[in-house]
Amino acid sequence: MKALKKIGVIGAGQMGNGIAHVCALAGYDVKLNDISEDRIKAGLASINGNMQRQVTKALISEGDRQTALSRIAPAAAFKDLMDCDLVIESASEKEEVKKKIFGELSQLMPKEALLASNTSSISITRLGAGTDRPEKFIGIHFMNPVPLMELVELVRGIATDEETFEASKEFVSRLNKTYAVAEDFPAFIVNRILLPMINEAIYTLYEGVGSVEAIDKAMKLGANHPMGPLQLADFIGLDTVLSVMQVLHEGLADSKYRPCPLLVKYVEAGWLGRKTQRGFYDYRGEKPVPTR
Ligand code: NAD
Repeated sequence: MKALKKIGVIGAGQMGNGIAHVCALAGYDVKLNDISEDRIKAGLASINGNMQRQVTKALISEGDRQTALSRIAPAAAFKDLMDCDLVIESASEKEEVKKKIFGELSQLMPKEALLASNTSSISITRLGAGTDRPEKFIGIHFMNPVPLMELVELVRGIATDEETFEASKEFVSRLNKTYAVAEDFPAFIVNRILLPMINEAIYTLYEGVGSVEAIDKAMKLGANHPMGPLQLADFIGLDTVLSVMQVLHEGLADSKYRPCPLLVKYVEAGWLGRKTQRGFYDYRGEKPVPTR
């Protein structure tokens, strides 16, 4: 089995830039792609800021930061990823977007390169089947924020071979993270449990059982959660929360996963949480203010 050296990351959003960040700190060369140079630049700026914060907290040295940053190169086009040993897709949580990416990548990447998706919910078997190498395709599902969260879920599709699984385990260990193996069913383990809880919190708001503040306070102080469910929804991104609920609803055909209409409305408004500065809270001022 060839050791992985160069990692490609597609999508420089909150997850993609986090993945690039931890890979570079672990000593991998990284190439970062997105749909425009501006998005790649924004991703690199986030990595820079986040690493700076790690230096301030003495978690890494200034030297580590400089070396890691120098390992990350922008990749304006997929062809710039051709020398990567593993490409991790972390674009928006939409199946048609991911299928198109993997269709194009399949034609460009050398046969031995591994392909992975950071999807929160979409079938790895189905995404892998759309490539020319389902045996070299795997789900490597990071948690948000990537530099802080210890867990990675590893999800094998039906066709994923042992060598790909072993290489992924080694990769996760080198990032100093721990993996949990999940079977390839909608939303895997963490989101299968977490997202219905968040959706239920949104129903609780929708039905007027509690205000945004009451719901978050109740779950923080009453269930000892570090963050309230609506705060967490804003943190994840309401578009991602909705997509995961839709995958659960369609994939498991059970009405208990019906996305809350209020969640749909926030997404329709473009109020996607922190990343757009407004969701269940408004983040434009000095401190977050509930929007309902
Ligand atoms: P995000 O909206 O912050 O970033 C997505 C990025 O993908 C954007 O910069 C967008 O421009 C880019 N993109 C879209 N289409 C593209 C294409 N065709 N080619 C290249 N780039 C493209 O979203 P995110 O929160 O970073 O989520 C990314 C993935 O990670 C999703 O699959 C999501 O389900 C998964 N995920 C999210 C979380 C979370 O908490 N947000 C946690 C684990 C996994």
